[in-house]
Amino acid sequence: MFIRIIIFFVSIALAVNLNSNGIMHKDSTKVFALVNCLLINGTGNEPIENATIIIRDNLIEFSGKSLDAPIPDNAEIIDLKGATALPGFINTHVHQDYNDANLKKWAAEGVTTVRDLGVREYTPDTFSKRDILSSDVFNARLLAAGPIVTTVNGYGTMEVTSPGDAEDKVNNLLENGADLVKIAIEDNLQMRTFPLLTEEEIKTIVNTAHKNDTKVSAHISRTYQIAMAISGGVDDLAHMAVDEVSDSIIINLVTENIYWVPTLELWKEVSDMYELDWFDIAKNNLKKFVSAGGKVALGTDYAGYITPFDLGMPIREILWMKDAGMTPMQIIVSATKNSAFICNLQDILGTLESGKIADVLVVNGNPLVDLNTLANTKMVIHNGVVIVNK
Ligand SMILES: [Zn+2]
Repeated sequence: MFIRIIIFFVSIALAVNLNSNGIMHKDSTKVFALVNCLLINGTGNEPIENATIIIRDNLIEFSGKSLDAPIPDNAEIIDLKGATALPGFINTHVHQDYNDANLKKWAAEGVTTVRDLGVREYTPDTFSKRDILSSDVFNARLLAAGPIVTTVNGYGTMEVTSPGDAEDKVNNLLENGADLVKIAIEDNLQMRTFPLLTEEEIKTIVNTAHKNDTKVSAHISRTYQIAMAISGGVDDLAHMAVDEVSDSIIINLVTENIYWVPTLELWKEVSDMYELDWFDIAKNNLKKFVSAGGKVALGTDYAGYITPFDLGMPIREILWMKDAGMTPMQIIVSATKNSAFICNLQDILGTLESGKIADVLVVNGNPLVDLNTLANTKMVIHNGVVIVNK
């Protein structure tokens, strides 16, 4: 992943700052300033009224109070009166995203990054397809796990037979370009039973990924599976559990700093179809986790089930997070800073702070007053390029 980021920066430098002889031309850099907006910068700090964001090339040069803003003389000024600027949102649990139209729809509604948590058919060119799709600035940035790693006949697609085999296969995935490793800890879902990875295999997968500065996301659906995920040392849980999670498990998750991706949209649809109480249980678990100080990242499991999901801004998921007791600010932080963290992009994305990549969502109104305004897109900036301007 970091090699891709370096290539990205080099290509930006070549495209913008250097002429054909490779000589710097300072005047060729594009600078613009978003002024007169409410700034919610993704850190969870108080919003700033009458704020300015200065963007140079693809980076944020300044964000904060307009009074303090060192707007360069040559900057293009964009007045955002009545609007709110936030970091581009990140949906950390999607599928069917090797798809130009879907990536364009996400980006156009301010979801500037998505994280694929498993393809059905993994081939050696999976990650090069990702790179081609992701290089279009009008597409959401695509991060991808490749296949879901599992045991023989398990829930998932890449089967490992032993700890040694797990190490080999994970190393191979990372060499091919996986942004993260997705594992399944699932033995009983939708009236199907599956064998599980052993604890030793899970630990080996996690250690192999962590040695390569890569995170591991675990599919779980039940409390006892979470216990395996915690002892294995995973970084995030890809679904909320649909049985009641004990206080001790919640405390363990918070202590170990394991993030949780609720996918309430998935559980709502499954619950409606089969008349289950999973959706209510999932919301209650989320409420307990947040009350205990747990960190949540935004994720819906888009296209992970046969029912339709919100494509673009996942507004239903967001409103259900509120129903589960999260404040609008907590939801925004989960969709930005926290989601960037589990994508391992916390140094370059997730907040509107100087030095970060300029992925900005501008909406009409104030989402702290009404979360529905998050679906009222005014402007989207992706990699410093204005891709939507209404
Ligand atoms: Zn999924």
